[in-house]
Amino acid sequence: MKVLTLGINGFIGSTLTEKILKDTDWRLFGMDLNSDWIKGHTSHPRLTFQEGDITICKEWIEYHVKKCDVVLPLVAIATPATYVSDPLRVFDLDFAANLEIIKMVVKYKKRIIFPSTSEVYGMCQDSEFKEEGSNLTVGPINKQRWIYSCCKQLLDRVIYAYGIRDGLDYTLFRPFNWIGPRLDSIGKQKEGGSRVLSQFISNILYAGEIKLVDGGKQRRCFTYIDDGICALMKIIENKDDCAKGKIFNIGNPNEEHSIAELAERLLEAAVSVPYLKDRASKTKIVSVPSNDYYGGSYQDTCHRVPSIDNAKRYLNWQPKTGLSEAIKHTLDFYFAGK
Ligand code: UDP
Repeated sequence: MKVLTLGINGFIGSTLTEKILKDTDWRLFGMDLNSDWIKGHTSHPRLTFQEGDITICKEWIEYHVKKCDVVLPLVAIATPATYVSDPLRVFDLDFAANLEIIKMVVKYKKRIIFPSTSEVYGMCQDSEFKEEGSNLTVGPINKQRWIYSCCKQLLDRVIYAYGIRDGLDYTLFRPFNWIGPRLDSIGKQKEGGSRVLSQFISNILYAGEIKLVDGGKQRRCFTYIDDGICALMKIIENKDDCAKGKIFNIGNPNEEHSIAELAERLLEAAVSVPYLKDRASKTKIVSVPSNDYYGGSYQDTCHRVPSIDNAKRYLNWQPKTGLSEAIKHTLDFYFAGK
């Protein structure tokens, strides 16, 4: 099998690359702006890596869509702070650039595995979100946070429609707060510049203060990256067409925690990491209004629990890793040996 991954150096792309090269005989082609997370693999005989921007290198992409069996367009901005600070950049990349790729996949009659998102459910009130049953509920236009949700939702609908009209072979997967090594780089990023776990780790390192937006009562189901990648591998393998034309929530419903609990668990784990010990024991947890943290066009979702019936039934998949273990693996990755 020949697999094309756009955004191969990202959180999902780099972890998937490692897994594919280790466990399969597939041929992998990938593009990314950077290669720091996959640098140990770029000379692997089964990987062809091309440094480049998907909005510019269209010929390379078209050539490889034509050459490959399955395409994973993983390039997207997925940080809520950017949805509110630069919504049009999110639109241009997450929507417009990906739409062109989807059209190429349709043109060459290839298979697409598209990263939808748990954000599409927005502020859905269901106790667990079902791929075929739940409403996708977002706020008014002045709440710009939802631009990402809407971009992904519309692409989900476009792919679905191509499936019906043109027989496009597709699978949509919806990650629910995947966490783990390489989620984001743990640098001195600006506030809100990364997903919550990376933000909190960088707060311990550089700020001495973890900020809980609106008190941190909002809840998320944290899913360890290796569990997510295991589901994704089953989707790519697609045994007996089990993933064809389906949508899968990929999340850990057993690990629902408030953001305040996440902060506490992280601090507990960080005090046993030598490099973080002193800083973690001095780090304070404070509450900030979302208006001060993200601005007025932010709106949050108070809970987000996946139904994983589809993934259990069609992929024979379920998550195995708890939050504490996921935090430990993540801290080990960044700080072991430091
Ligand atoms: N959050 C927080 N403090 C931070 C960063 C994020 O309390 O420094 C909250 C954020 O408001 C949201 C949750 O953590 O409710 C998860 O944020 P993330 O950026 O990971 O993305 P989301 O799950 O909202 O897509």
